Amino acid sequence: MIAFAGNPNVGKSTLFNALTGMKQHTGNWSGKTVDLAQGKYFYKGESYQLVDLPGAYSLVSHSPEERIAEDFLLSKEAQCTVVVCDATCLERSLILALQVMEICENVVLCINLIDEAQRAGIEVDSKALQMRLGVPVVLTSAEKQQGLEALKETLRSVCDGFAPMQPKRLGCGIRGKTQEASDAIARRFVRLAQETAQHALLRTEKKKASFTQRLDRIFLHRRLGYLAMLLLLFAVFYLTIEGANAPSQLLQWCFDRVGNFLEKVIKMPEFLHGLLFDGIYATVSRVIAVMLPPMAIFFPLFTLLEDFGYLPRVAFLLDERFRIAGACGKQSLTMCMGFGCNAVGVSGCRIIDSPRERKIALLTNAFVPCNGRFPILIVLIGMSFSFGSAILGAAVLTGCILLSIAMTLLASFFLHKTYLQGTPSSFVLELPPYRKPRIFQVIVRSVLDRTLSILARAVAVAAPAGAIIWLLANLKIDAQPLLQVVSTWLDPLGKCFGLSGAILLAFALGSPANELVLPILLMIMTASPTYCDTQLLQLSGFSWQMSLSTIVFTLFHWPCLTTLWTIYRESRSFTQTLLAAALPTAFGLSLCFLLNLFV
Ligand code: GDP
Repeated sequence: MIAFAGNPNVGKSTLFNALTGMKQHTGNWSGKTVDLAQGKYFYKGESYQLVDLPGAYSLVSHSPEERIAEDFLLSKEAQCTVVVCDATCLERSLILALQVMEICENVVLCINLIDEAQRAGIEVDSKALQMRLGVPVVLTSAEKQQGLEALKETLRSVCDGFAPMQPKRLGCGIRGKTQEASDAIARRFVRLAQETAQHALLRTEKKKASFTQRLDRIFLHRRLGYLAMLLLLFAVFYLTIEGANAPSQLLQWCFDRVGNFLEKVIKMPEFLHGLLFDGIYATVSRVIAVMLPPMAIFFPLFTLLEDFGYLPRVAFLLDERFRIAGACGKQSLTMCMGFGCNAVGVSGCRIIDSPRERKIALLTNAFVPCNGRFPILIVLIGMSFSFGSAILGAAVLTGCILLSIAMTLLASFFLHKTYLQGTPSSFVLELPPYRKPRIFQVIVRSVLDRTLSILARAVAVAAPAGAIIWLLANLKIDAQPLLQVVSTWLDPLGKCFGLSGAILLAFALGSPANELVLPILLMIMTASPTYCDTQLLQLSGFSWQMSLSTIVFTLFHWPCLTTLWTIYRESRSFTQTLLAAALPTAFGLSLCFLLNLFV
């Protein structure tokens, strides 16, 4: 077996995929590859087993990924270990390489990203490096599939015992008996990496500021950076809103036609017919029609930004704000994941090492709206605040997002001052160079990995929920549907917050998945046993004040059941799960209460 080790973002997964032909997910921030991916390739009649270890900066520190990598290497399961290095920052890569050489027998250095290094005016002298370290060195560009044959040939000779190895070792292991001794050893590795890199690097010419440097002058600028972030956010929302409208309507039209046709063809008792078509089919088709088009636009755009290397810049920009709020800058990344799906954001919190900061990130993730809540926001903004203009709609939606980010910070600060006191820790955030996004792969990946899996989950939840809601809408007490009875009963409570009983009930029944809230609301407000159009919502007395309160409540209320379940799984604490539900709800209800008093 051959193990692949390396720092995060050095192209390990790309190399692994290029060799094995496997499609492993590659991401642009550290902590992405956590499970061990395995694969194999054939070369000159032999089969070679590969395992992709999680990205690690060093084997001495304590992140979970680094521990997994170290444990695997120490188990001696691998016959040979390839350390993938980044040619554009060789020194940093060499620290890990030297540590691996210390504990493993057969090590091969694969210096990747040589195309990028050449562009930056850096040349790696592989012969010099090989002489100095006493292990084989291969130069590759995984993205351009260069150097792969040479790598396979080298691995063959290492595995067959033909490559001479005299690895340069410090001979002191990778850890000392005491903390001071370990620190001293760590410093020796850093010094040796510096010397080796100096020896092996040739700077061909002093290049002008690179593309990445020029772009970072804007994206990381103290003021312009925020402006650029806002504009990008705005552009993504504008394209999502403008682009999703027509396909949504078309999908709904198609579903209606198919539904009508099936109703005619399949004959069954009236009750079953209602349950199946007006309940389950109508709910599922509405969820798909409302969710699929925005997701199919939003996720690829978001993944393009991720692939381009922009998201770590967001973390860099927001790091200071999160630190002031007593949280960790990495929370901005989990927050970004939350925009897609809060359950995904919550499981992403594992990348935060400090337990205190991880809890803060867990408890506040639902303060940003997930994909399931976007349709409610888009419909309500379209109805009351955009006046028919997609640009105005996108601007209001961007405002909502800014409000949710501000509230995330405020809630984090509140937790930091009360339940989760402590000092914010610092972390190393890597800013990879900007890279041309792989458009085709991005689209395929975001549709398969994110869009379809979230949609499948929503449909799985929507089908039984549709049946229950239909039953509630059709079961009658004193000739009034049960839904109406309960919503009238809840009305006084809703009114205190500028909402209504129908809205509260829709949110409560929509708890399995936020994408259900809107269809249920339509069903209750329009007193119809089946779904109907949003225009009817306007006619049924939905004022702009009510829209505003509902938008605020959509942004800040309890997370859906899937997210709550994920929070429980991650925290193993009933109290924290409860708090994660209570906190945004308390914020939302307080804001609605104030709005109701003053607007
Ligand atoms: P990992 O975190 O080490 O697994 O890195 P990935 O395989 O996810 O690669 C990170 C980014 O570097 C991706 O955008 C890749 O397309 C890009 N990349 C990988 N190898 C190369 C290369 O040799 N040249 C260039 N220009 N880009 C590369």
